Amino acid sequence: MDIKAPRGVRDILPEESWKWSYVLKVTAETMADFNYAEMHLPLFEHTELFSRGVGEATDIVEKEMYTFLDRGSRSITLRPEATAGMVRAALEHGLCSPGTAARLWCWGPMFRYERPQKGRYRQFYQIDAECLGLPGPMADVEIVALSVEIFRRLGLKNLEVVLNSVGCPACRPLYRRALLEHFSRHKERLCATCLGRMERNPLRILDCKQTDCGLIADEAPSVHDHLCDECRDHFQEVQEGLERLGFAYHLDKRLVRGLDYYTKTAYEILSGDLGAQNAVCGGGRYDNLAESIGGPSLPGVGFAAGLDRIVLVMEQQGCSFGRSPQTQVYVVAQDPEARAATQVLAHELRRNRVSAEQDSGNRSFKAQMKAAGASGAAWVCILGPEELQKDLVTLKNLETGEQASLPKAELIERLRQN
Ligand code: ATP
Ligand code: MG
Repeated sequence: MDIKAPRGVRDILPEESWKWSYVLKVTAETMADFNYAEMHLPLFEHTELFSRGVGEATDIVEKEMYTFLDRGSRSITLRPEATAGMVRAALEHGLCSPGTAARLWCWGPMFRYERPQKGRYRQFYQIDAECLGLPGPMADVEIVALSVEIFRRLGLKNLEVVLNSVGCPACRPLYRRALLEHFSRHKERLCATCLGRMERNPLRILDCKQTDCGLIADEAPSVHDHLCDECRDHFQEVQEGLERLGFAYHLDKRLVRGLDYYTKTAYEILSGDLGAQNAVCGGGRYDNLAESIGGPSLPGVGFAAGLDRIVLVMEQQGCSFGRSPQTQVYVVAQDPEARAATQVLAHELRRNRVSAEQDSGNRSFKAQMKAAGASGAAWVCILGPEELQKDLVTLKNLETGEQASLPKAELIERLRQN
């Protein structure tokens, strides 16, 4: 076949999809315990939502968005992240009236035009949680705690929580100026991308992975020395809150995150087992996002975790994904006359929550038994003339070889206990 999936997207096949279901099940339970309600949001939005919400001068908006005109000549963008859409939906539906909080989560595919590599795809999946309406540091602590708790329940090891504050519109201009001054002095050693960032977004230079830029960024003035009183107190209280919950974290003055909407808290959770694409989760506070997309003032804090990368790390670390889905029972017909009855029996088993496969096709008894063995089922149910006449089913344990003929009710009871 000459049509293949486009570059950077992948099919999640049955051998992997059950692992995704497990991660999502654990996630949904944890979200429920933290009182976060699930949302399902559109995969595409008006382009403006992201250009204004995420920010014109970000990598995402500058070069990673899938943007096109629809048939009505509207500019549409496949969502590159979930937060802007979550805030849009919360405002549009009045989910967060003044003075109250809304705790929301969602999961699904995001789209970014990036160079595909291991752990980096053009369609990837995020788990996303947002806590809206609460300006205080306890909400930031709750969001970090929620992400860490999901990873704890999934059994992920070797994770590192990295924390920073990126200030607010009151103190960032001063910090920006200090950075500009510093970087101008080392202009000749900055990479081309960072030179471009000088004017538009000098904070992003802190995040550059190029060695030289990194060395210069290490010596740059620290944001911690430029926070206003409010941001400094907030940052301090977030740290105290994390310590009260017993979380290990470390501070990184170079952590800025690639989205413009962050204010105050920014954090990432890194895995030691992912190589270059080492971030499994990123988040922070975005007190001005709602206003930048034309809404009222609405503080918020949230995180997005990469589902593809979570599964990758769990596989590498040998984490459990719970029980793999497996057919319990394989139903075979001893002769052609019993074939119709196998479908009735298989259906009855399934209605009673016993996973059953029935041989489809007109194969010999021997071939069906062989298929049963290969299927991974623990049991075979055999129906032949004798069984049909006495209204019994022969149940065989494929591991021990033991077998017995039972009435249907007893059979179902026995299999349900397994
Ligand atoms: P990175 O530094 O890896 O590019 P990012 O800062 O762009 O990540 P965020 O926008 O913070 O990522 O998204 C949150 C999480 O989503 C990331 O920590 C990562 O796990 C996941 N993620 C982001 N981009 C991709 C991608 N292209 N493919 C797979 N997962 C991704
Ligand atoms: Mg990125």
